[in-house]
Amino acid sequence: MYTTKRYGATIPISDYLEGYVDVDTFLECCKACPNYDSRWSCPSYAFDVIEYWKRYQTLDLTAVKIIFDEGYAGRELPEEDIQRITEASVMQIKRELSEELLRREKEIPGSISLSAGSCILCEGDCSRKENKPCRFPDKMRYSIESLGGNVGLTISKLMGIGLEWMEEGKLPHYFVLVCGLLRK
Ligand code: SF4
Repeated sequence: MYTTKRYGATIPISDYLEGYVDVDTFLECCKACPNYDSRWSCPSYAFDVIEYWKRYQTLDLTAVKIIFDEGYAGRELPEEDIQRITEASVMQIKRELSEELLRREKEIPGSISLSAGSCILCEGDCSRKENKPCRFPDKMRYSIESLGGNVGLTISKLMGIGLEWMEEGKLPHYFVLVCGLLRK
């Protein structure tokens, strides 16, 4: 149903902050998302986001392009089919990337990973909705976009991946998942 293609890039945090991070703009996008104030992995945050980036020196970026086969890419499909195909591909790769990054954290002392999108460990039932602490703080990670990173600009400028506009009722030709590892 799909193949994947992997990309990587490394950038000093000072350069990333200067060229790719805009906390105020992306916070406004997050406010329009149902996860805002509803997942511990998402804003609003009780910490200074810029100071969080500045704890680290380097960002290793990984992107995985999920490319749908000819028979599916760009096809008009019922919304439930699009959701099913998306779940089966994106969620699977996202889980694999999270596991890989947690392994890399262990190999590189002082590093912390940035997940590809919001936390899915509790499958939509985040304890923040009940104002209870995160169930898996040792595994929950913030995403690049939740910390104000411009993921679209990141993949286009640093990895040469073009952006595809989603068309309602059509499966896109590809999705791109982007995650990272912050190193001291
Ligand atoms: S691990 Fe569970 S409780 Fe913690 S942020 Fe993720 S979904 Fe929410």
